[in-house]
Amino acid sequence: MTHQTSVMRLCISCRKTYDRKNLLKITKDHNQGIMFQKGMGRSAYICKSKKCYLDSKIKKKLQKALKTYLEPEFIDFFEKEIASYNEYPNK
Ligand SMILES: [Zn+2]
Repeated sequence: MTHQTSVMRLCISCRKTYDRKNLLKITKDHNQGIMFQKGMGRSAYICKSKKCYLDSKIKKKLQKALKTYLEPEFIDFFEKEIASYNEYPNK
C-alpha cells in the first residue's frame, strides 16, 4: 500500500465521489460505537460542501448508510463538529 494512492468514496448526500481525505467520515466501530473521523467498521462519508453536511436529512441518511440508530448524544457531537467546518472555504 502506498500513501500516494487516493481512495475515492461516495458522499451519502450528493452521491458524488471524492478523495477520502477530503470527506467527513462517520464510522460504526465494532467496539466503540459511532465515531467521527476514526474507528473501524461500516463507514459513511459526507463531503465538505455545506449543502451536504448541513442537509436537514443528513442524519436520516447517516442512519440508513450505517444501518444503525444514532444516539442524540452523537447528533449533538456531530452538529458541533460540523459547525467548525462552516468556516471552511469550499474546494
Ligand atoms: Zn456531498
